[in-house]
Amino acid sequence: MNVQKQIRATSSDSTKHFDVVIVGAGISGVGAAYHLTRQCPGTSFVVLETQRSFGGTWLTHRYPGIRSDSDLHTFGYRFKPWTSAPIASAAEILSYMGEVIEENALGPHIRYQHTISSARWSSEENLWTIEAVRTDTGEAVRFTANFFWMCQGYYRHSEGYTPEWKAMQTFKGRIVHPQRWPDDLDYKGKKVVVIGSGATAATLIPAIAGDSAHVTMLQRSPTYFRTGRNAIEIAETLRELQVDETWIHEITRRKILYDQAAFTRKTFEEPEAAKRDLLSAVEAYLGPDYDIATHFTPKYRPWRQRIAFIPDGDLFQGIKSGKASVVTDEIDRFTETGILLKSGKTLEADIIITATGFNLSANGDIEFCIDGKPLDFSQTVTYRGMMFTGVPNLVWVFGYFRASWTLRVDLVADFVCRLLNHMKDVGATKVTPALRPEDHNMPLLPWIDPENFNPGYMMRGMHLLPKRGHKPEWQHNQDYWAEKDEFPAIDLNDRAFVYE
Ligand SMILES: Cc1cc2nc3c(=O)[nH]c(=O)nc-3n(C[C@H](O)[C@H](O)[C@H](O)COP(=O)(O)OP(=O)(O)OC[C@H]3O[C@@H](n4cnc5c(N)ncnc54)[C@H](O)[C@@H]3O)c2cc1C
Repeated sequence: MNVQKQIRATSSDSTKHFDVVIVGAGISGVGAAYHLTRQCPGTSFVVLETQRSFGGTWLTHRYPGIRSDSDLHTFGYRFKPWTSAPIASAAEILSYMGEVIEENALGPHIRYQHTISSARWSSEENLWTIEAVRTDTGEAVRFTANFFWMCQGYYRHSEGYTPEWKAMQTFKGRIVHPQRWPDDLDYKGKKVVVIGSGATAATLIPAIAGDSAHVTMLQRSPTYFRTGRNAIEIAETLRELQVDETWIHEITRRKILYDQAAFTRKTFEEPEAAKRDLLSAVEAYLGPDYDIATHFTPKYRPWRQRIAFIPDGDLFQGIKSGKASVVTDEIDRFTETGILLKSGKTLEADIIITATGFNLSANGDIEFCIDGKPLDFSQTVTYRGMMFTGVPNLVWVFGYFRASWTLRVDLVADFVCRLLNHMKDVGATKVTPALRPEDHNMPLLPWIDPENFNPGYMMRGMHLLPKRGHKPEWQHNQDYWAEKDEFPAIDLNDRAFVYE
């Protein structure tokens, strides 16, 4: 869509002004809206969302079995108890989010089917001008806002990432990406190959294994998984004792976070022991004769990529029953009837599912301009993974990978609300992060250290992301346990914030 054309099509008297515009009604945007109403009462705001409804990830992913891979006590908000089993289906998450919207009267603030195409900052007016298109009518709509709160997630919802393999077009069956799951896909009695072994493959395979003739998980290299009962013992005990759900939520969150901190520490301090813990849990399901060394023992240290939780070991149970199997090999090319592997083996398939990941889209595909100059985020330095040097009145929510995403949604929201209230108190209308004199010789590094965390979609898109420095205030360190104490202590009078 041509942005200039849209701008012309928008009459200035139809422009709507809000103190804050929030991008996206996923778990981050709904959380942002909640905190704004509670911590900054009286602030006018609107949430603009492309889709027809709320939910983001949990709305757009429709493949069988779609569920969380981390627990909902921490993926849920801190302010609303999660009262069911910790690993939840997309439908359960949507229902939880729906309750948050309903209970807090957030619905009237959300405008669905509004795709933001551009955002222009003017220092003359100290305003963002936001151009959006209504996807139902094609109408161009303009908003202005003092503050822009980006909750757009980190990947493009409209399409997944599918590598180009040789002779893909010769395959006579269907090739499906889980992000675009067709309603009419009939896998009953069919031979299915799922390419990939991340959380999506691990969720999808047990969900379709029962009905398919056979499902093969084809992976180039193995992935770590955690597994266990889909239950948290302490939550069960407290529930038996009829403790209030608000308390259960808080205590269970603390217990989960305490255990996760210990495990994360172990992956750095005793990686071999952490690895043994993970692999022995898999072996408990698959038995000592299964080739765990080939199929479930990654070459990397645990936690360099996200570790999905497999509730009740359902993936492993599918493999044990013979309905599913794992092949660790590389694709040479597609054939009419399946896939030829580099080892010379072939995999016969009626359906091939490419669970090969995302296309990173860090800015919601929005064109940004600052005072008439196009903004290239990769030329900025991030302030704690949420603001950017030279970019006024804008916050970006990028959650955790090693802990639940939403933990950071709550933390960032507390910071934004504190910042907005501070600006009101001191009479500032503009805040821009800037490197301080002591930061000027700081080496600038990629957004994330590949030695620390390196999934494919991050590596493919790293060049598009803002830079980080080597000091905590100039990086998103993926460490909830440090940030939970550091964020509330951020000094808003620090010289990293330039107010006008
Ligand atoms: C299948 C799957 C399972 C996952 N499971 C977990 C898990 O268990 N635990 C965990 O911590 N993380 C998980 N994640 C990561 C997950 O994406 C995040 O945790 C979280 O849901 C992201 O929420 P969000 O609101 O930030 O972004 P999203 O869910 O991506 O929502 C962003 C919203 O913004 C809208 N939007 C974007 N750009 C624009 C625009 N220009 N104009 C208007 N609207 C726009 C989108 O339409 C979307 O609705 C999972 C991811 C996937 C794909």
